[in-house]
Amino acid sequence: MNKHVQQAVESILNSIPELQLPINIESIAKSRGILIKPYPLGDDVSGLLAIENGKAVIGVNHTESKVRRRFTIAHELGHYELHREEGKLFVDKNFKMFRSQTSGNTPHNQRLEQEANAFAAAILMPEALVKQEAAKLEFDLGSEEAIQILSKKFDVSSTAMCIRLSKLGILD
Ligand SMILES: [Zn+2]
Repeated sequence: MNKHVQQAVESILNSIPELQLPINIESIAKSRGILIKPYPLGDDVSGLLAIENGKAVIGVNHTESKVRRRFTIAHELGHYELHREEGKLFVDKNFKMFRSQTSGNTPHNQRLEQEANAFAAAILMPEALVKQEAAKLEFDLGSEEAIQILSKKFDVSSTAMCIRLSKLGILD
């Protein structure tokens, strides 16, 4: 992962006195001064980040599942923390997890989306906590039970958890 993405995530996580699972991503975003609003965004939009007069609003498609909405908030928070100098509006059209699908899919935009996804995964599934929870498991890490338990604990989708485990080199 990009070093500056990692650093942005760590500085936020380190500022929380007692980190508890699942990560309360809404309260983290609010603590950064961001307003979160459920939006009727239409079927093809998962979320957006709008910045107006220095005020940031994250819009979340309220028809999507809870794990998806959490990921959306984390992803938009990533745009805010990493890219707010780049523009005033980020709209995420059904971004497939860890794959960029922005309109105007230039290499530059792809990089922004990858960074926002990496930020989201790292903040929802902090490395130290994933390793700690994985070590506690009574099931084999590759088993369906183990993935179920971990994704519940972190309140993320099992796909997101599998990808995170393999990125961390815990699961191949
Ligand atoms: Zn995005």
